[in-house]
Amino acid sequence: MALIVQKYGGSSLESAERIRAVAERIVATKQAGNDVVVVCSAMGDTTDELLDLAAQVNPTPPAREMDMLLTAGERISNSLVAMAVASFGVDVQSFTGSQAGVITTERHGNARIIEVTPGRVKDAIEEGKVAIVAGFQGVNRDTKDVTTLGRGGSDTTAVALAAALGADECEIYSDVDGVYTADPRIVPDARKLDQLCFEEMLELAASGSKILVLRSVEYARAWNVPMRVRSSYSNDPGTLVAGAMEDIPVEEAVLTGVATDNSEAKITITGIRDSVGEAAKVFRALADSEVNIDMVIQNISNAEDNKTDITFTLPKADGARTLETLRAMQQAEGWDDLSYDDQIGKVSLVGAGMKSPPGVTADFCDALRDAGINIEMITTSEIRITAVVREPDLAEAARAIHTKFELGGDEAAVVYAGTGR
Ligand code: ASP
Ligand code: MG
Repeated sequence: MALIVQKYGGSSLESAERIRAVAERIVATKQAGNDVVVVCSAMGDTTDELLDLAAQVNPTPPAREMDMLLTAGERISNSLVAMAVASFGVDVQSFTGSQAGVITTERHGNARIIEVTPGRVKDAIEEGKVAIVAGFQGVNRDTKDVTTLGRGGSDTTAVALAAALGADECEIYSDVDGVYTADPRIVPDARKLDQLCFEEMLELAASGSKILVLRSVEYARAWNVPMRVRSSYSNDPGTLVAGAMEDIPVEEAVLTGVATDNSEAKITITGIRDSVGEAAKVFRALADSEVNIDMVIQNISNAEDNKTDITFTLPKADGARTLETLRAMQQAEGWDDLSYDDQIGKVSLVGAGMKSPPGVTADFCDALRDAGINIEMITTSEIRITAVVREPDLAEAARAIHTKFELGGDEAAVVYAGTGR
């Protein structure tokens, strides 16, 4: 008998009909002899709709009240799924994140899970019940307030619960059949992967792939929880995310896929003195205002005035306040100029297979050249190459690289639902 955690995303729960389909799957898994713990996201685009609604009553809503509001979305789907399961005559009990023992930091809107003490969930399982847990939410011990884990946080709830319960597998149900070599909405011949290792999935998630939230993969890797990404609309076994990169035999290491990200902007500081401590000042100031910077490039300095340029990327959402912080420093630091550009896109190629063969970067650049796309920034890691291009070129860049490295399959990928929002 296995213990399986199943997480259902919003697109799997977008209507009463879909909720009943999900309940049937839960019941079938239970009747096959497994213990089942279910984690639900909010129905369809509920979270976005609640955010829109909040903005209409207050442009800067108090963070605590925002979490009170957003956690309601998961409570609705959670209880409805429990009712649907009960309609099949199966014993079931639903829990809020707090009732399930999801303890978090106090940071509203982006709390981190500190620990999970799922006593009540364990009791329910022992009593032969299906336990249903509201995703994306927890509680802080000191403030006793309800928190949310950041967008897409139900994935993290599921993995954290799976780790705490010692589950055999954590299934993440989405609107596509698994992890693809690229987003099938952008690259129509994207191919479903049967398996990839945690490191590859981490790089994909960090590079903009939206199939799994980055933090959930970090958690799964740290606790060695095998994740299976699959669809609630089909019986495809999906994609297994498990194992360490070092265990992949060299001859089996391949290029995994292409990811795109259009959520970032870039800032360039021109004419910054090229001397000890200048870059440190910039990045300390950004760290102090909790801005998560991504790619950083500093050029060699101009011999005449010993000044250089620094460019970095950051989430568009942090653009305005970061510019403000830097503008306040500009004069005192004597920088020539400060420029902001939010019309950029990031395209990345990921795979353990790029560690050994030379020429991957050359082929990557060739693919973009042949598509007539200019590279504005480029960085590499052990298993990733990332380029910044113009935003309107992003989709074409992804297709060009995907084709160049022959990542595609013969069948067109099916996107079952969801707005990709
Ligand atoms: N409902 C939340 C969101 O849309 C959490 C989740 O879907 O995992 O971000
Ligand atoms: Mg959602």
